[in-house]
Order: sequence, then structure tokens, then C-alpha cells
Amino acid sequence: MLDLIIKNGQIIDGTGAEAFFADIGIENGKIVFIGDCKQEAKMVIDAAGLVVTPGFIDSHSHADNAVVDFPEQREKCEQGITTSVAGQCGSSYMPKIKASDEARHSAEGFFKKLDTLPLGANIVTFVGHGTVRSSVMGLANREPTEGELEQMKELVRESVKAGALGVSFGLIYVPSCYAKTAELVEIAKACKEAGGMVSAHIRGEGEQLVDSVKEFIHIVKESGVKGVISHHKAAGAKNHGKTEITLKLIEEANAEGADIYCDVYPYIASSTSLSSKFVPKEYHADNKMLQNLADPAIRAQIKARLVTQETSSYDGVLVTVCKGHPEFQGKTLPEIAKMLDCDCVEAALRVIEFGRGSASACYFTMNESDVERVMAYPRSMICTDSSVARNNSVYHPRLRASFPRAIGEYCRNRGVVPLAEMIRKITSLPAHVYGLEGKGIIREGYDADICIFDSDKIIDKATYEEPTNRCEGLSYVIISGEIACVDAVYTGSGSGRAIRRKN
Ligand SMILES: [Zn+2]
Repeated sequence: MLDLIIKNGQIIDGTGAEAFFADIGIENGKIVFIGDCKQEAKMVIDAAGLVVTPGFIDSHSHADNAVVDFPEQREKCEQGITTSVAGQCGSSYMPKIKASDEARHSAEGFFKKLDTLPLGANIVTFVGHGTVRSSVMGLANREPTEGELEQMKELVRESVKAGALGVSFGLIYVPSCYAKTAELVEIAKACKEAGGMVSAHIRGEGEQLVDSVKEFIHIVKESGVKGVISHHKAAGAKNHGKTEITLKLIEEANAEGADIYCDVYPYIASSTSLSSKFVPKEYHADNKMLQNLADPAIRAQIKARLVTQETSSYDGVLVTVCKGHPEFQGKTLPEIAKMLDCDCVEAALRVIEFGRGSASACYFTMNESDVERVMAYPRSMICTDSSVARNNSVYHPRLRASFPRAIGEYCRNRGVVPLAEMIRKITSLPAHVYGLEGKGIIREGYDADICIFDSDKIIDKATYEEPTNRCEGLSYVIISGEIACVDAVYTGSGSGRAIRRKN
């Protein structure tokens, strides 16, 4: 007897092929039968009128920062994500060589810990170059010594051998941003030796966008690794349209033998820490950011830099997290400036100080045509670029709604790509890029990670004002053959697994 049969659904198998009607039989967490299913099963789902696809793969997630404390990853499953790709933008849970906690200490310890947790969705991870660098040389703003570089390379190799996908760079964040290109090439080469790949939050997504893409292409070509440009975008009105140039550069590199992809989230606002946007990187060195802000002379220098620096308009900055200060959450900088009776730059610095460095915001800096252009690019994948929800903070709606929005808004409403192609971008493409064997396609012998939804109705409902709204139209999410969500509500199945890179 089968465990589960999904009957009468219209299958979009994830390969980009057209839809077809068939039943799917599931046993022991695997798809064992596709066709006209006459067998008995413990459970039957009637998917008449619905579309059945592989589970969605979140190409760029920060779930690792919280997954040990919040293994359910509810917000991920509840939008159809069955596998999260974590450890991005230079930051990962490990390896921290001085940590006594094994899960923090090494990739091996992290995976062992994950094996004991009721994971809501599967998880794979990169190790962050920033995490590796701070482990070896703290937040020092200088080049590594030969010994330090060797130690970083060894940590990367060790992590990849233990099952990490590779290394991620976070070149706007401290301390990854202190690395020169040559260091990154060396790290990428070590990663390649162990069989890994790289992803990068590139050095700049505004004025520096084109040069930053060129730097990434250089790293990939020099080291021979496979590469993913994270959350590809053009930020700031002056840079809108530049994704036309960058996608051409990527295509040229690929034509010359490189293997480069990117991911994108379906929104025109980004989200990251306020300190990374408002405090220039050299003032973060050696963990002295708050100390520097408290020094009136240095604070004046920082403010002078910001006033002259080209920033997007301040009413496009919406504070989402300020630890211990909910009164600022959901307010724009001009609103906070009014509350505090100061200017917008001063307001940003004060929120950073109130949150003791732990403050984030959404930044409305992109335009729709760049988002759509990147989304239509055949080598782009879709992502949340989000951790999981903690405390009572509000978040960017992408945390709960990226995938229903990509399908409902960008695919159905705007026709940016056809449905079968969108499904390929969120299933078999990331499975291929990240080497996730047995995932991303509805095929006999493959893992039973499956989404069932109404393709006429699926849509995001989370907004910047109400980021916790559940999506609509997503009937079932199945992970390893178990029902993880019904009508976008997590069942508590805990059937996700930690996935190690195949050696
Ligand atoms: Zn990033």
C-alpha cells in the first residue's frame, strides 16, 4: 500500500516541459509512480483543478542564522519552500574556531546538530567568507598574512568536505568587505579544490554595480568555480537599467566557459542592516562601530560622509527591526526623525545605537523593469533572501511571500515568464545549480517534495505594512512524502532534512 496518492492533478514537472495530467504515488518519502494510479494508499489528495509541481527551492536564504532555534522555518514552508539554501552573503552559523559549541565550531558539528532537529524544510548551506575571516583574523581591516590566508582556505576546504556547498562572499559586509579581489580568488580556488562553488553579495549594487559584476566574473574565471550572483539588482535611480549590461556580461562569460547564475526576489525594496548602509565600512573595524558612533568627532565624520554620499531618498527607508524599540518598527526615517526631533541621518544613527547594532530596514531603491529583466533571464532563480522570523519584529514581506508573488504577480498577472518556465526556475534549476540530487523534478525515484496549488489564485498577501499575511491559493506542501502545510498553515510535520553536498 502506498503512503499517499495525489490524484487528478495537472503536473508541471519542473523541467520546463508543458503540463500533463497524471496521478502521483508516494512511498517512503519518494515518488514511486506517475500515471493512472489504481493502487490503494493510506491517504489520497484530490488535486482536481490544481497544479502539482516539485517543492520550491529557496536559492538564497539566511535561515541558518536562526534554524537551530527555529527549526520549523514556518515562514518558508508556508509559501511552498521545501528546501532552503542558506549561509549566504558571507555569513553562516559556523565555522567559528573558538566556539566551544560544536554546531558553531564546524560544518560537521552544524550538520550533526541539524540531524537532531525537527526541520520544517530541508536545508543546505554555504559557509560565509566573513564568518571564516572573522574566525581567523577578527574584524581586522587589512590583508591576511600568508598564514591567516592558509588557515581560511583550510577552513573552507574542511567545511566543503563536511558537506557545505561552498563559500559565500558578502562584499558589503564587515569583514568580508575588507578582502581584496586576490584574497577572494585564493579562497575560491581552495573551495574549488574541495569540490565547492561560490555565491556572492557583490561589492556594490548601485554606482559600483557593473564593476562589481566584473570582479565576480574575474573570481569565477580565475578559480574555475561555479558562481551565483546573489539577489541581482540595480539600486538607486541613476543605476536603473544597468542589469541589461550586467546580464550581457554574465552571458559573455558563460559563452567563454564560465558557469554563472544569479537569483532575484520579486520586490523593488531590499532589506538589510541599517549599520551596513549608514556607517561606512572602515568604522566597523575591530568591532568598534558603536564606540565610533559615540565619539563626537568620528560621528561628525560619518555624518559628513553620508550627507555627501548619494543615498536614495530617506522616505524610501522603512525601519523593520530595532531590538528593544518596537516604536520605530514600521516607520520611515523621516517619521522617526520627527519623533526624535532630528534630521534623517541622525535618526538612522540613533536607531542603530538604540538597537545596539541590531537594526534593519527596507530600502525602496530598485525599479520594476530591472526586477522583471533579471527574473526573465533563463539562469536566474528566485529567493527570499530572508532568515526566519524572531521576536515580534516586522520583516520584509519576502520572508513569507516571495514564491507566491513570483508565480501570481510576475508570472500570471504580468506574464514575465510562462508558468512552466517559472516552475523550472524555482525547482529543477536550483536543484541543478546546487547539486541537489533527487530534487526539483516530479519523476519516479525522486524525493516527494511537492507543492499543490491553484495556478489561477496563488498570490502573495504579505505587504510592507502587513508582512505576516499568509499567501492564498497554496493548497498543500509536501516534504519527504509528509504533509508539511495545508492552506499555507504549517502542520508541524518536521520532515525536512539537513542535506550535505555530495562528494
Ligand atoms: Zn546579500
